[in-house]
Amino acid sequence: MMRDGSVLVLLGPPGAGKGTQGERLASDLGIPKIATGDVLRAAAGAGTPLGLEAKAYMDRGDLVPDEVILGIMRETLAAPDARKGAILDGVVRTVPQAEGLEKILRDLKRDLAAVLFFELNDAEAIRRAAGRTVCADCQTPYTGLAAGTRCPKCGGTLVRRRDDEPEAVRNRLREYQAKTAPVVAWYVEHRYPVLRIDAVGPVDEVAARVRRALSI
Ligand code: AMP
Repeated sequence: MMRDGSVLVLLGPPGAGKGTQGERLASDLGIPKIATGDVLRAAAGAGTPLGLEAKAYMDRGDLVPDEVILGIMRETLAAPDARKGAILDGVVRTVPQAEGLEKILRDLKRDLAAVLFFELNDAEAIRRAAGRTVCADCQTPYTGLAAGTRCPKCGGTLVRRRDDEPEAVRNRLREYQAKTAPVVAWYVEHRYPVLRIDAVGPVDEVAARVRRALSI
């Protein structure tokens, strides 16, 4: 299913495991994972103009404007390390972003191999966000490791994401229903392969469902 240079899009509500599963897929397939959330958090941490603009949206759990996201997509997909392909984690969150990505891929002569749609109910999304920490340096997400712990992967410090607090999570779920859920319908309508993955269950089980869906 994956040709050289083609990309996979990961869709699903906050907490569905896109980051965790995307990380595994990236290492299984030997291609990078691109997450606009990670790019924006790194920019906010570094205090760049892009980061400062994005931070206010992110802290509230609002979506960052489409033009900002499309700029990041074009830049990261054209970069040399993404030439072999890429896993796009949380990168397409609105219909205009799906349309913009289609154009970028056409310009770069690349294709979209499949859309992985991780399905999770709201109660579980809120529960997962409440137990989540993330490495301030490498952005790896963890459940069951407290803030302040060292990241097992890179030694950075684990922190809580401000947008994992309940009020912001509820807002992210509202944003998801209003703006991202229609993206799935858009991909189906435009005849892209949409693979539905039940995201409830242990990480290894969900990973096995992903491999089965992709036949890898
Ligand atoms: P994530 O790490 O994927 O949960 O993203 C964290 C936050 O970054 C989101 O709640 C948005 O504020 C922002 N963000 C990341 N990716 C996008 C996107 N594709 N479109 C709009 N906002 C985004």
